[in-house]
Amino acid sequence: MNSYRCSDGSRLKQSVIERLITKAKAQKVREQFEEHQYNFCEQCGVSSGTYIDCSHDISVKECKESGRTELCFDVENITILCRKHHQIKDKLI
Ligand SMILES: [Zn+2]
Repeated sequence: MNSYRCSDGSRLKQSVIERLITKAKAQKVREQFEEHQYNFCEQCGVSSGTYIDCSHDISVKECKESGRTELCFDVENITILCRKHHQIKDKLI
């Protein structure tokens, strides 16, 4: 089983990381909803008729490779984006 290092030297298994990321994304969406009563893309503000994605500012890959795995599930490292802005950010389009 793969494991990845955190800043404090501890290691986390991939399965644990995935669970914590899912939790962090849910928390991010919940926090935005509690503050604004709806969810929207932080780039363009679109809120309906589109998918809303959770995007990592520092990619999961980069967090793991730099030994800062805890950033993968840091709510501060997650931005809510529409599909289009998520793709632009990840340079897919
Ligand atoms: Zn957008």
